[in-house]
Amino acid sequence: MTDTAKEILVETINLTKRYGQLTAVDKLNLKVEKGSIFGLLGPNGAGKTTTILMLLGLTEPTEGKALIAGYDSTYNPIKVKSIVGYLPDNVGFYTDMTGIENLNYTAELNGLDPKEAKKRIYDAIERVGLKDAANRKVGEYSRGMRQRLGIADVLVKDPPLIIMDEPTLGIDPEGVRELLALIKTLAREDGRTILLSSHLLHQVQEICDKVGIFVEGKMIACGTIDELGSQLLAGQQLQIEVMAEPFGEALIDTCKTIEGVNDIKVKGHLLTLKCSKDIRKQLSRTLANRGYELLHLYLRGVSLNDIYQRYFQKEGYHGAEGYAGD
Ligand code: ATP
Repeated sequence: MTDTAKEILVETINLTKRYGQLTAVDKLNLKVEKGSIFGLLGPNGAGKTTTILMLLGLTEPTEGKALIAGYDSTYNPIKVKSIVGYLPDNVGFYTDMTGIENLNYTAELNGLDPKEAKKRIYDAIERVGLKDAANRKVGEYSRGMRQRLGIADVLVKDPPLIIMDEPTLGIDPEGVRELLALIKTLAREDGRTILLSSHLLHQVQEICDKVGIFVEGKMIACGTIDELGSQLLAGQQLQIEVMAEPFGEALIDTCKTIEGVNDIKVKGHLLTLKCSKDIRKQLSRTLANRGYELLHLYLRGVSLNDIYQRYFQKEGYHGAEGYAGD
C-alpha cells in the first residue's frame, strides 16, 4: 500500500443476489474508503437494501462476497456486527419506553459496562440533540426524532462503520438538514465510515464523498460527483456562458474565432458557447487582448440530478418515482 492509498473498510467482490429469476444485485464491485461517506443511490427496487443486508451478513449472497474490514460477512457475522452500526429505514423502538430507556436496553443487549453505558448514552443523546426529549416516551417522537434516536442507538455501540438505509425518508426539510449535518460530523469529526442508501439526490450530493448509482441491481456508475459529471460529459458538447463588454456582433465574431467553439446562442447580453473542449483560458486571453472586459465566464456543470437521469436514460430506465421528492 502506498502512503496515499486509503484503507478500504467495505468491499464487495462480484456480490450477487438472486431471488428465483430476479437478480436483485448483479456482480457488485464496491470499495468504500475508511472515514468517507458513500451514497448508494437508486430508485425503489434497485437493490440497495439487499446489498446492505448482505454487507451485514443478514442475507447470504448467491455469488461473490462482502467484506467488512476484511471479514467476510457470511462467515464472520458476529465480528461484522461488532464493527457495523446499522440504522434501518424504519427503526424499531419500544414506543412505551422513553428514549433513554430504549438506549439503556441496547446497552444491556450489547453487554456494556453500566458505568460506560451511562456515559455513552448521555453523550449520544446530547450529540443528536435529544436531551430535552430523552425522558419522553418514544411513541410521542416525530419520525425525525426517531431517526436521531436511531443514530444515538448506533453511537452507544461506538462502531467505526455506520450503515444507514434511507435515513432521511419521511422527515421534514428542517429535520433533514439537521440529520445530514449530524451524519457529516460522524465522518468528519469522529472519522467513522458512513454508507447510506438514498433516492434523494440533492441530499446525497450535499454530504457524500462518493456515490454509486444503482439501476435494477447493477451499479452503472461510481465516483465523486465531479468524476460522474466528467464521465457524462466525455465526448459531449460543453456549454460555456460568457458576458463581456462592449457587447455586440464583434464580440460574437471574436468568440467564433476560437478553436473548439461550434455554436453560439445569444440571449440578451449572455452568450452560450457550445464547445468541443473547455476553451475558457483561450477565451479570456483573447477577449482581454482585444480590449474586452470579461464580466461572466462559467462552465455549465452537471448536477447530480442530470447525472442520475442521464445514466438512467442510458440504461433505458424510465421510472419516475426513484428521483422524485428531492
Ligand atoms: P427500496 O428502497 O424500495 O427498498 P431497494 O433499492 O432497497 O429499494 P431492494 O429492497 O434491495 O431494493 O429490492 C431489490 C429487488 O429484489 C426488488 O425487485 C425486490 O422486490 C426484490 N426482493 C427483495 N427482497 C426480496 C425477497 N426476500 N424475496 C424476493 N424478492 C425480493
